[in-house]
Amino acid sequence: MLPCGPDSMEQNKLQLAPYHRFTVEGRTYVVDIDRFRCARLDARTAAFLAAWESDPHVQAADDVRNSLVKTGLLAKDRGKIQPDGTDRLERDRRSAAGWLAGDSARTTSLCLMVAQECNMACVYCYGSAGTYGGGGLMPAETARRSVDWLISHSGDNRDLIVIFFGGEPLLNLPVIRRTVDYAKRMGEQMGKTFSFSVTTNASLADEAAIDFLRANQFEIIISFDGTQVAQNRQRPFKDGGPSYAAVVPRIKQLLSVFPKACGRATLYGDTEPGEVLAALKEIGFRNCHLVPASGCLLTDAPSEEALFRRDRERADYLRREAAAYVAAVKRRDRAEAAQLLKDGELFRITSIGVSPFFVRRLFFCGVGRTYLAVDVDGSLYPCHRFVGMKEYLLGSISEAADPPRSLFHESPVIISEECRQCWLKYVCGGGCTYGNIASSGRPFGTDPAFCRQYRQMMETLLDAAAQLTGEDREFLYQNNVVARPKCPLDF
Ligand code: SF4
Ligand code: SF4
Repeated sequence: MLPCGPDSMEQNKLQLAPYHRFTVEGRTYVVDIDRFRCARLDARTAAFLAAWESDPHVQAADDVRNSLVKTGLLAKDRGKIQPDGTDRLERDRRSAAGWLAGDSARTTSLCLMVAQECNMACVYCYGSAGTYGGGGLMPAETARRSVDWLISHSGDNRDLIVIFFGGEPLLNLPVIRRTVDYAKRMGEQMGKTFSFSVTTNASLADEAAIDFLRANQFEIIISFDGTQVAQNRQRPFKDGGPSYAAVVPRIKQLLSVFPKACGRATLYGDTEPGEVLAALKEIGFRNCHLVPASGCLLTDAPSEEALFRRDRERADYLRREAAAYVAAVKRRDRAEAAQLLKDGELFRITSIGVSPFFVRRLFFCGVGRTYLAVDVDGSLYPCHRFVGMKEYLLGSISEAADPPRSLFHESPVIISEECRQCWLKYVCGGGCTYGNIASSGRPFGTDPAFCRQYRQMMETLLDAAAQLTGEDREFLYQNNVVARPKCPLDF
């Protein structure tokens, strides 16, 4: 007989680990939030959880209890489950303090805004037509001193990255050439190895530019919106003229030398992601990245309704891609599975599909810590998107002292109440800091559009990963589609 009375009522209450429950096309899952483990639920357990969420005194039948123990939500021994993840976040914060004080948080990537000018006038540009409120080309001397600054602020880190950015960086190719030569020479002297990256609209990538980029093994990112209609409408030249016909031959030439160059398309308005991806592939991109324009930054900001519609379309698209990936694995189509993983966000499926997350993320990116940006005048900013925002100016490459970065040593997932309550708090890192500020006005606020998309994406990927069997995963490892986890006990 069950005990009764108020104390016994409390005792009888089922204590479950914090979890997130979701359903995709009739399949219901729970994520154990603290361990980030996902399990599919049978119908009875799913129904029980739905009932328990409105009445925690509801009793579980034995089979449901067993199923909850298997998922890890219910401890075999009472009292072993933490009521929430607060302690864990606090532990993470303390261990991050050590890391943030050491060399691993020193700057290793520096973005040089070599041209705050652009020959295009993209409708969604966040940088005031590439000028970032300033304009001009970076002098060679500023670029050279930026390299010196990076070396002297990189601590013991040997591998350093210089990113050439704009505007359109190839407008200042002579300075890029001199900077690369200088960085390589200084790297040899100072025991550092430099690698280089450029993000370009491809319009100025002539044969000489491509030869130089090839000789210095650049990583190439090409901003290009895929279809003729989208490119001409969203990325016209500065005089308003269409750019598609001018850039496509340049892109093809770049791809013949850099087959792994990434095609970065911005999804804007009613652009259909599937069409954009097909167009990118048609041109020859093997590596594609589709990014929605962030609505909060646009002068013609879309309505909430339009944003929701776009989210739904994007979620549907991602779901179709995930289903295609699972189908390709099931029919043992290596090429198709590998291709689908390369085409955007699906690559995350590998980290979910083959192992749980080991490293809990306190930060979304390296902004203000391992990654900084320098404008044409040598002013330092937390990242390229902050350039020109005087309230986020961190200092200058002329100053020897480390710039004040305490703001960027705080993690949104610890500070923000929204993040602390979110089931993705250990894996998201709190989103893009710039997006958070643009959307909420606070670095530790959140961007609802980002959160919506991130949660949709994670549910889709977890659903796809859960459909892969041990044999499916073995096929992926053996065919080098994804790397085999280092520990045989993983997953
Ligand atoms: S999805 Fe949003 S609320 Fe959740 S952790 Fe990320 S930024 Fe925070
Ligand atoms: S803050 Fe946002 S824009 Fe800046 S580096 Fe991070 S993710 Fe990119």
